Formats: sequence, structure tokens, C-alpha cells
Amino acid sequence: MKMIGRIGLGTLALLVAAVPLPAQQWLHDDGTSETNQSMFRDLDAEWPAPNEMRAASGYPGAAYWQQEVNYVIQTQLDTVNHAVSGSERIDYHNNSPDALRFLWVQLDQNVRSLEYSRTYEARGALPKEMSERARQFLGADPFDGGYDIKAVRVQAPGGRLMDADHFINNTMMRVNLPEPLEPGGDVALEIEWSFNVPDFGRGAKELVEDGWIYEIAQWFPRMAVYDDVNGWQTDQFLGRGEFYLEFGNYDVSITVPANHVVEATGVLQNPDDVLTAEQRRRLARAFQSETPTYIIAPDEIMTPASRPRQDGMLTWHFLANDVRDFAWASSKTFVWDAAGYKYPGQDRVIEAHSLYPRDAMPLWNEISTAAVIQTLKTYGEMAFEFPYPKASNVNGPVGGMEYPMLAFCGARPRGELEGAEAERGYSDGVKWALMSVTIHEVGHNWFPMIVDSDERKWTWMDEGLNTFLQHYGEVEMDPNFPSWRGSPPSIRDYMRDPDQVPIMTQSDLIHKDFGNNGYSKPAAGLTMLREIVLGPEAFDQAFSGYAQAWSFKKPQPSDFFRAMDEGAGENLAWMWRGWFYTTYANDQSLVSVERQPTEELLGSSERGEWYYRMTIDNEGGLVMPIRMNVTFDDGNTELIQLPVDVWRNNEKRFIYGLFTDRDITRIELDPGGWTADIDESNNLWEVAPTT
Ligand SMILES: [Zn+2]
Repeated sequence: MKMIGRIGLGTLALLVAAVPLPAQQWLHDDGTSETNQSMFRDLDAEWPAPNEMRAASGYPGAAYWQQEVNYVIQTQLDTVNHAVSGSERIDYHNNSPDALRFLWVQLDQNVRSLEYSRTYEARGALPKEMSERARQFLGADPFDGGYDIKAVRVQAPGGRLMDADHFINNTMMRVNLPEPLEPGGDVALEIEWSFNVPDFGRGAKELVEDGWIYEIAQWFPRMAVYDDVNGWQTDQFLGRGEFYLEFGNYDVSITVPANHVVEATGVLQNPDDVLTAEQRRRLARAFQSETPTYIIAPDEIMTPASRPRQDGMLTWHFLANDVRDFAWASSKTFVWDAAGYKYPGQDRVIEAHSLYPRDAMPLWNEISTAAVIQTLKTYGEMAFEFPYPKASNVNGPVGGMEYPMLAFCGARPRGELEGAEAERGYSDGVKWALMSVTIHEVGHNWFPMIVDSDERKWTWMDEGLNTFLQHYGEVEMDPNFPSWRGSPPSIRDYMRDPDQVPIMTQSDLIHKDFGNNGYSKPAAGLTMLREIVLGPEAFDQAFSGYAQAWSFKKPQPSDFFRAMDEGAGENLAWMWRGWFYTTYANDQSLVSVERQPTEELLGSSERGEWYYRMTIDNEGGLVMPIRMNVTFDDGNTELIQLPVDVWRNNEKRFIYGLFTDRDITRIELDPGGWTADIDESNNLWEVAPTT
């Protein structure tokens, strides 16, 4: 972008002489200037002091630690009673410097328990305008769900397993240890459980044309996080704040009816037992190409030839290393396609899989696996290359949810169609919905499955960062992609709403517009930072630096902010404070445009015939860069961009001076809405047309 003449130093001195210098002006002052209320001041009060675990750089510190938890799980799917039962052995390794007297285990299924669900008990307090779907999602309707915990055993001194002293507090279970677990020590737990699979929620079942689909998630008792910030993270699962888990290795055996096909986190260990020879051959071929091919074609599902055995049960065995969770899906209705992807210059093949019922065709067979591969590309460029061996996408009852290596997406072709859409069999709308939700859910592998932020507290740390990258994936996949969720112009409506809370509000305290708060607004802020404030070079190095430094680790909000400041090379306190810690909006107002002959001002017209003086007031609560389109009488328009620093000493008013030989006919502040100015009515100045 081209800058046009700015006010020179000589002129500045002249103006200063004419107008007494105003006192420091702050947007949010107490009228006295006795305390520092600058929007640019550091966030010392908001951020914890850096320490050995979390360095001032925003990167993990020299003494950073986190726990390690490994699981061996056997589970069975009961398709008659729609229930899941299982037993697990948990090996817990204490890397913390603290001795632990007890362990906390998350029991997320209890959000659907009539006995234990806090959300169900508090359902009367949910906002009246909440949609039916949102209520179901929060577990607000009665369902005989929740865990039946059949046994809890813990390793006694000497290694023997004994019944553990434990109690359940709603969605959390405390297991008391026979003796304190010292730093560096290991302890094992065994838990047996079962639960009924609900119709809605994070994991669910659904009857489609060809039969039942089960998507099983948040399904086994999972170790809560013990970290340097929370100690034990014991925030209850209320349905919205998602989850925060430790990394470890998973060895999972899933027993289902022989006519089912299973997809899961991790790599299948026993293809010879559960796939036909033909399917194994097709898989090997499929990974050699980015173009998906069928492993189970639509006309093959539920045929005898499609399964190695016709009746009884089969056990599918998966291993997954360095993951923070494990989910799976099972159905006899799955069509299955697959492809392979290699990053440029690498030999490692990443498997991309899609499994869906015929109800999801045509659509899934054309879009899903391609969208999975698009995600690997875009996120690989903007954050880091996908480290896992596979990424899968499954269609079923869950609208959109993410687990390591496995996404659940609900989009399906439906409704009456006309013209080209009827011929193709699905609408543009549903095509974009599937692209969008696939890139989003597969994108969650990066945030928070690998960059393991505390979702139960901070929705924006994974949803916001992920929504930001998702957009770039969408337009790379389809340049005509219509929606730009989280772009600065599209966030203006939300910024006008007086009834919002800051992004830095914990997930279960966001009373309305969760999507705009946790997803769109942080994404819009990051897009603004990249495209307007910092530019791609500075932003991308800071952002990928943060993502890589915290891969397989647990960042906090202040780590993100600090890493961005240090990576980009500037103090962005004004942005973090304004955009993340407040609900203030940007409203710049063009209050006057005055014109004076330069000759009169400087005694010569060397610098241009006219001197224009534009007075811009800051009427919102944010400081933001100024962007101004100036149109001249010759019809040319130039974009003037001024950094946020114009507001450092006077946050309320800035006067911009411009020398030019041409007449200005029109000035527009924030063209296109890229700084999300919420009031366009005070952004425009025009010379009245001559008749
Ligand atoms: Zn998400």
C-alpha cells in the first residue's frame, strides 16, 4: 500500500505553537491522570509473573514439567442395549515436584446422569432463549446416562492391586492413594465401568437408513490434569468447557459385532483379523495417492464379502502414542474411503480416512477426505506439520467434535434441490458446511490436541486459534468459499452488542453467543493482527513459534500473549488488553476536514497546493490503527494506513495533516471494516456534489 504525504516536522512545530498541548488523554481515565490508565500499559496485573515453568518469553521454562498417563483399555459395544462397558489400566507417572495423596479422574459421562449431573440439576437456570439443540448438548434433558462404576483398584505398596478408597463428586472422582505418590514415582489404577450411549452430546448414537451409528467419546474415566497452574484441575464438566488432559500412550481393544467397521484414534494393529484381504490391498494402494479410493464401496456395505466373519464379535486393536485422548466410532453402515498425503520433501505417509453412511452421499465421498488433506497442508504451513500417522473423519450424530486423529462431522445432503445442485445431489451450502466443519475439527488436532491448552477454562485458546487457521484452509480449498467466520468485518455485529463478556471469560461463564465469544472474536482479532497490525511475516513467525514451542505441552493465556509479543518484536499490550480482556469496540469518527492553502500555512506551496487537516476522534473503547481511503477529484483513491501508535499520548483525538495538489472529494475511515469499526455513520466525509 502506498503512503501519501504526511505532516512534516516543521509543520508540527507550527501547529504545536498555535494549539496548547493537551494533557495526556486516556479513553478510560478516572479524570485525574493519577494512575496510569493507558490502553498501551503492560498487563502486569492480569498476567502471572514468569517463573521456572513458564518463561518470560512465553515459552516453556527450564523447569517445565507435566504428568504422563498411559492407558490399556478393553471395551465392548452392546448394540442391543446401546451400552458401552469397559475396563482400563492407568499407569500414572508423577513428574511434578509434589507428593500426591490422591488422584482425580474425570467422569464426563456423568453430565448425562440423573444422579450426578450438575447441569441437569441446574437446568432451570439455563437461558430461556437457548435452543433445544444447545440444551441437549449441555445435558439439560433427562436421560438414564452416566457411569456405573463397577470397580476401582489401586496399586498398593509392593505392587498388588487393592480396592481403592474413592468418592464421586458429580463429574469428578477422587481416588485416595494408600501412600503418597512421590515425585518421579508411578502408580497404577484399574477401573471398570459401563454407561448407556445417549442420543445427543459429545458421544451419541443414531439410527440411519441402513442401521445404527455409534460415535463414542469422553467414554472412559480419564485422568484429570495436575499442573503448575491449577494443581489438580477439578472444574466440573458442565457440558460446554470441553476437556484438558495429559499426554500418554493408548492401547485399546474394541469389541463389536462382526458386521461392524470401527474407526478410532490410533493405528489399527490387527488388520488381518478385522479386514478382508481385498480391503487390506485397497488400503495399501489408497495411501499412495492423494485422490481417495473406496476401501468399502457404497454397494458393498453389509454384504458377506465385506467382512472377514459373518457373526459373533470381533475385536479391533489400536495403538496411539503421544495423544491426550482416545475416541472411536462403530457401525455396519460405513462406506469407507481413504487416501495418503506426504509433506513436500518427506517420505512419511499420513493416512486420511473418511467413514460415512450412504445417507451422507453424495457429498462425503466427494468432499471429506479432500478436506482432511487440505487441513494437513494449511495447518502444516501456518503452525507445524502433522505429527500423527493418520487423520480420520466420521459422519454420524455428532454435529462437529474433535479427538486426536479422529473428527466427527454431522453435515449431510438434505432438502429439496433445483438445477445444478439437484444434478449434483447436494447444495453449495452443505458442501461448504462439510468443508468448514471438517477443516475445523481436523484442525483441532493442532489446537488443543497437540498444543494442549486448558479447554475447560479457556475456549478461545483452541477454538479461537483454530477458527483463525480454518478460514485460511477454507479459501485455499475453494477460493469462492463464502463465509469468513471470524474476519474483522464480520465481527462488527457482535461488537455492537452491549450484552457480551470479554474473551478472557471462562468457558462455562459465557452466558450467550458462545460461538462469537470463543470462536469468531478471537479469530477476527488474530486476522486483524496478521493482516493489518503486524503483517504476515512478523505474525506467522510469532504464531508458528508459539505453536511449535507448546507442541505436546500445556500453554496458558499469558504464554500465548508473551510468545506473540516476543516472536513479532513488539509490545501488543493494547491489543491483548482491548480485544481479549474487555468488550470495548472500535469506533473512530471523522469529526472534521479543514482545508487551507499551503502558501498561507508555510509561506510557499512547494509541498502541494492544499493542506488538509482531518480530525479523528476515538469514540469507542479500543485503540486501533487508522485506515482511511482518500478519493481525489481525478477519481483516484489512496489508502492511508497509520499505526496504532498515533493514539499513544492522546487516545481520544488525532489530527492528521496531508499536503496535496489535488482536491479531496471523499474520505472514508475503516474501508471494508478491517479494524471492525462499529459505527459506519461517522466514518464518511464527502464534498457535496455540484449540480
Ligand atoms: Zn471447535
